[in-house]
Amino acid sequence: MKVIRTVSEMQALSRSWARQGTVIGLVPTMGFLHEGHLSLVDTARERCGAVVVSIFVNPMQFGPKEDFNAYPRNEKQDLELLEARGTDVVFIPQLDEMYPKGFETRVELTRLPNHLCGLRREGHFRGVTTVVLKLFAAVLPNIAVFGEKDYQQLLVIQRMVRDLNLPIEVVAAPTVREPDGLAMSSRNSYLSPEERTMASCVFQALQRARQMANGGVVDTIMLRRAMTEIIEQAGAQVDYVAVVDPDTLEELLLVKERAHAAVAAFVGRTRLIDNIRLKG
Ligand code: AMP
Repeated sequence: MKVIRTVSEMQALSRSWARQGTVIGLVPTMGFLHEGHLSLVDTARERCGAVVVSIFVNPMQFGPKEDFNAYPRNEKQDLELLEARGTDVVFIPQLDEMYPKGFETRVELTRLPNHLCGLRREGHFRGVTTVVLKLFAAVLPNIAVFGEKDYQQLLVIQRMVRDLNLPIEVVAAPTVREPDGLAMSSRNSYLSPEERTMASCVFQALQRARQMANGGVVDTIMLRRAMTEIIEQAGAQVDYVAVVDPDTLEELLLVKERAHAAVAAFVGRTRLIDNIRLKG
C-alpha cells in the first residue's frame, strides 16, 4: 500500500492506471476509520482494479462553532486498517495544497442543501461539494463510493456528478451499525459511556417510524411526534426529525410509496445523524 500526499503524484499514478485500463475507485473519508468506512473500501474493492482511500479533514465543511479542531484523527491506525483491507493507495492531501493562498472557488447546489442538515449547518454542503470535486480532480476515479449514513451528502454528490457531467459512477453503500443499532461514526468517539448507551435512541426512533409506517400510519406529524418522544425520553435533544421525499428531500405531510425518515440529535454535545427508508 502506498501513501501519497501530493496532488501531482496522485494524478500521475491515476493516469498510468488509466492507460492500462485499470478501473479506479475512490472512497473519500475524513479518517478515524471504522467498519462503516471499511465496508465502503470492500465495495470499491469488488468493483475496481485500484482502490484509493482519501483522508482529509476538510475545514470548509465545518462551521465556525463546529468541531474541526477537535475532530478525531489517528493516521497510523487508519493506515493499518486500510492496509489490512487491501487498499492500494491512501491519498492524504495537505491543507495548503487543497486550499492554497488566494483560493476562491466554491461549488454549490441551489436546492438540495435547503433541507435537513443543510438548514442546520450553514455552508456545510458547499464545503463538501467543493472538496469532493477537488478530490475527484486529484484521483480521477471511475467510481466513487459514499455511505447512505450521510444520505443528504450522497444525494448532493450524485446531483453534482450529473449536473457537471463528471465521468464518475457514484455508488451508495448501506449504513453499518453497532449491535444496538447506532450508526457507526467517527464522532461516536466523543460519547461518554452513559451517552453511548443513550445514543441508541436515534436508531430506535427511526425504527419506530418505520414500524408505524409499515402498520399503515401515513400522517407524518404522528411519525415525527413518536420519534421526538423516543429521543427526548432517552435524554437526548432533537435537532430535527423529518419524513422526506428520498429524491428531493422535501418534507412529506403523508407517507408515500417512497419515503425516508431522517434524524439529527444532540447526545450531550455530540450531534449524531441517521436515516432510514420507511416501508418495505
Ligand atoms: P466521513 O469520514 O464521516 O466523512 O465518512 C466518509 C464516508 O464514509 C462517507 O461516504 C460516509 O457516508 C461513510 N460512512 C460513515 N459512516 C458510515 C457508516 N456507519 N456506514 C456506512 N458508511 C459510512
